[in-house]
Amino acid sequence: MPDILDTEIKFLTGVGPKRSELLDKELGIKTFRDLLYYFPYKYIDRTKFYKISELDPEMPYVQVRGVIDSFQAEGAGRNKRLTASFRDDTGTVKLVWFKGLKWIVDSYKLNKEYIIFGRPGLFNEAINIVHPEIEDPDQLEKRISSNIQSQYSTTEKLKNNYISSKTINKLQGNLFKQLEPRIKDTLPLWMREKYRLMDLHDALFITHFPNDNKDLERARYRLKLEELFYIQLSLLSLKIHRGNRFKGHVFGIIGEKFNDFYSGNLPFKLTGAQKRVVKEIRRDLGSGKQMNRLLQGDVGSGKTLVALMSMLIAIDNGFQACLMAPTEILSIQHYNTISEMLRGIDIRICLLTGSTKKSEREQIASGLDDGAINIIVGTHALIEDTVRFKKLGLVIIDEQHRFGVAQRARLWKKDRNPPHVLVMTATPIPRTLAMTLYGDLDVSVIDEMPPGRKAVKTMHFTDSARLKVFAFMKEQIRAGQQIYIVYPLIKESEKMDYKDLEDGVEAISRAFPPPRYVVSVVHGRMKSKDKAISMKLFTSGQANILIATTVIEVGVDVPNASVMVIESAERFGLSQLHQLRGRVGRGAKQSYCVLMSSDKLSNEARKRIEIMVSSNDGFEIAEADLRLRGPGDLEGTRQSGIGFDLRIANLGKDGQILEYARRIAEEILNNDPLLQEANNAILKQQLKNIRKTEYDWSKIS
Ligand code: ADP
Ligand code: MG
Repeated sequence: MPDILDTEIKFLTGVGPKRSELLDKELGIKTFRDLLYYFPYKYIDRTKFYKISELDPEMPYVQVRGVIDSFQAEGAGRNKRLTASFRDDTGTVKLVWFKGLKWIVDSYKLNKEYIIFGRPGLFNEAINIVHPEIEDPDQLEKRISSNIQSQYSTTEKLKNNYISSKTINKLQGNLFKQLEPRIKDTLPLWMREKYRLMDLHDALFITHFPNDNKDLERARYRLKLEELFYIQLSLLSLKIHRGNRFKGHVFGIIGEKFNDFYSGNLPFKLTGAQKRVVKEIRRDLGSGKQMNRLLQGDVGSGKTLVALMSMLIAIDNGFQACLMAPTEILSIQHYNTISEMLRGIDIRICLLTGSTKKSEREQIASGLDDGAINIIVGTHALIEDTVRFKKLGLVIIDEQHRFGVAQRARLWKKDRNPPHVLVMTATPIPRTLAMTLYGDLDVSVIDEMPPGRKAVKTMHFTDSARLKVFAFMKEQIRAGQQIYIVYPLIKESEKMDYKDLEDGVEAISRAFPPPRYVVSVVHGRMKSKDKAISMKLFTSGQANILIATTVIEVGVDVPNASVMVIESAERFGLSQLHQLRGRVGRGAKQSYCVLMSSDKLSNEARKRIEIMVSSNDGFEIAEADLRLRGPGDLEGTRQSGIGFDLRIANLGKDGQILEYARRIAEEILNNDPLLQEANNAILKQQLKNIRKTEYDWSKIS
């Protein structure tokens, strides 16, 4: 039987072909269900009345009862406006209209009681309310919906076509009238009883038409819990499914290459955390199950070494390994570091990026195909269909936040019997987000820095202090240190950003003239050959300063660089700033991060900078980021293609509900891993629906 919720939106009372097209285009609402799950983004409580003496321009919306004393016409021409002085027993407030002046004067009587509703503002030091809603007190009784008004986001285009927040609410009302019988619940009865959850029909109705704050809370709770629960159920059952379906290659031995490296080439003692993590990985690799592990570790915690040792285990067991990085610069760097570390050990390692020449590419292809190449390092180029391995046993993805689930999935297709996967990320993400982004992975954490690191000192200067900063930089260069200067580059194509960088290069070259100083420049628009030359100039220690865009954000490792200057720091997000700062503080010398900004800062930008100055802890910063910006904006979540489009839950605020949802999902799958019990039939069906529409997991298997 078709589900009524799948009905096209044009069949709803009040929606014709034109409106349905607009709703689809502007809000993605195609069906009854889409509308039903288009939730208010906020509610306005109209149960409360304020006195005029209490009004304050910081208040969002207020409702006041009083009378209009008089109307005045003010200004002339385009500035023409109508004002009214509105009074209650505590004072008066000015009401202002710029449109519909005549209509207002004709419609409202002086000295009659009205209820006005609007947002207080400040003009000439006095509080006013522009374009208030005015209501007759008699109407109060008759208000259709309720005293708590749902507010929906709309767009300019919708508003121009008379689809306002109110219209959407009205359509929701029409929809509920057409929904007979009640909406079928999407959670089994036993769950609703056990966890005391409201049923779906009520929860949806109340969310759109709340009458009281307590009920609204409960209704939203039910919907949030359900939303997060199904994501967790989906991720956890994916994990079970994978475990059952795929046999992992068994890497049973720790052999010659690993031991040679460990006893002869290891450049330093492993930290306790590195040892522990290598052990965890070894256990996975030998277990007979395919590894899917996330390795989290703050910038500079030494993940590369862990990656290398894992690859050596694969090679000792007769397999090839691949290490994939998000940028060409980072791939080259990994390639160089690893080649260096493997010096004297008989392992063939190659580099493959977008700019690898065709002839070389062909050679690499055949080396991978016949097994002559043991390790391949590279960018996305590695997941191109032409790359075939003889026996790929381990895939390592560095800086995962740049890759999406979908790209992870493509690696799987490479082989009938998929390789082990280790995903490494330096973006410390809050637990809640990790559970959602990487909920299908096991997690290892490097929570210890290599010894002898000094915490980076972070300072904030505005542009007016630039000369002071230059003096400081010269002092550092005199002491033999190297310096990064980074300019924001939000999109590679934005000309303006390059202008910033170009101006910067000019200013720096003037302040740091040759031959005394050597300045190197690298940005995304350069040819990769030139990029490599510029980088080399800096990594080899010849250049004192490297001016760059955020291409150096991830992974670049130059221990002698001890100062990171970030220009227009207010334009970067917190986790990006933290990543950039992680480029310094790798040697034994004291390192510095200098955040440059304009004098005028928004509140949020100021907070971000304050957090950076006061904290060096990546996890603390990530939590703050989530709080400040909300998860939708967190770097990596948007491009990651995770496909979880949360409609009502908020990962920043609903962490507890998420933990609870995950526990419930775990408990259910522990008892019934394949959801075969009759009791869980709804869950199984729901998972199927969700996977079909939202997260295309089918790609993965
Ligand atoms: P990330 O985790 O950010 O990828 P890297 O692997 O680039 O960190 O390591 C950062 C720096 O720390 C490198 O210069 C590396 O050689 C060094 N390093 C890694 N492990 C250790 C260790 N156990 N002792 C000392 N230095 C280490
Ligand atoms: Mg790294």
